[in-house]
Amino acid sequence: MGSAPSIIVRPHSGMLVVLGTSALGGAAYRYGTASDSDDTSLNPHSFTPYTLVSKQPISSTSTIFTLRNRSGSPDPESLKNVWKHSVWSVQVKQPQLQIARAYTPLPPHAGRAEGVQDETQELRLLIRKEEGGEVSTYVHKLPEQSTVELRGPNVEHELPHNTKEVLFLAGGTGIAPAMQVAHALRSKPGARLHILWANRNREDCVGGQSDGLQAAPPGRLSGWRSMFGLEEPVLPQESATPPAKQGVIVKELEAMKDSSKSHGSGLSVEYFVDDERKFIKPVNIARHLKLSDQNDDAPSKEGKVILVSGPDGFIEHWAGKKLWIGGREAQGPLGGVLGQMDLRGWQVYKL
Ligand SMILES: Cc1cc2nc3c(=O)[nH]c(=O)nc-3n(C[C@H](O)[C@H](O)[C@H](O)COP(=O)(O)OP(=O)(O)OC[C@H]3O[C@@H](n4cnc5c(N)ncnc54)[C@H](O)[C@@H]3O)c2cc1C
Repeated sequence: MGSAPSIIVRPHSGMLVVLGTSALGGAAYRYGTASDSDDTSLNPHSFTPYTLVSKQPISSTSTIFTLRNRSGSPDPESLKNVWKHSVWSVQVKQPQLQIARAYTPLPPHAGRAEGVQDETQELRLLIRKEEGGEVSTYVHKLPEQSTVELRGPNVEHELPHNTKEVLFLAGGTGIAPAMQVAHALRSKPGARLHILWANRNREDCVGGQSDGLQAAPPGRLSGWRSMFGLEEPVLPQESATPPAKQGVIVKELEAMKDSSKSHGSGLSVEYFVDDERKFIKPVNIARHLKLSDQNDDAPSKEGKVILVSGPDGFIEHWAGKKLWIGGREAQGPLGGVLGQMDLRGWQVYKL
């Protein structure tokens, strides 16, 4: 999610010059021509008109925008493929300023019946309104039925086929790529995803209760099978009683947990809220890596990855800065807190 390009030039029809301007990333652009928005299917080369069918407020700063492909024609196979294997984004255009920013589509709602949301025709974006932010403020002001132009998909990270376990550090809307990973791993039996989700305020994750991470007492099923709900559940550390009210994203995460369980994979989430003085700490990560080793039948580092996604400051704090080299965004060296920890051979990738 994080950093912005200094300058990128991507050749395509009429030569598109992409200039980075924002502190939070995404891409600004200028046109060589103004006529490349007539394609009916989402594609990475030109903007496609979508209709904003609904706006669902999540908190005082964030909203889910549901966008439907205006032509109604099915989007290309490539979109189905990116859902299966990758973390990906689309660019949203602000037409007056001729700028665009990247946003990460949320997966289709796991709790809904198959086919109710067609993942190729409807896209849902969780967008936080940045104070003074050009594109995020613009989309928040749009009324339903407005036209929004999208370009993509842009693959941010390809999940290797041998991925068996992901520890995901998500800050704020960084939960969107974490949910994409949950969606992709869902149908991989035995694959495991643990999300550490940090928010500034509780309003973004109302009712979210952390899944227990403690090793089970002797005589009970221990480790991953319990932790991910594949067997008898371990009681959550915070409370065993589910709260009466759950926020939209928390509910979706709960539905994803059920769905992954029924597919034989595992998902668990821990919540951290700045306002409650509950922050992700290195011990949360260290404990997870240790438990992973302890509970693996055949401990192996292969296929184990830590993904970090959120605002620039969040990524930098945990994994160090991403770099821009030759007009392309690169991972840069592992720095930050993770750079100082014994990661037991886990790979780190900054989103
Ligand atoms: C791959 C990727 C995926 C992303 N996915 C999501 C997502 O799913 N959801 C989401 O909400 N965001 C996401 N983002 C972030 C998003 O692309 C935008 O960066 C974000 O919405 C802010 O864009 P903006 O145009 O509203 O703000 P901008 O206009 O870019 O401004 C950003 C901030 O910088 C400040 N600022 C701007 N100019 C200046 C200046 N000259 N001096 C000082 N301060 C300044 C603004 O006040 C604002 O607070 C993603 C980013 C990337 C790279």
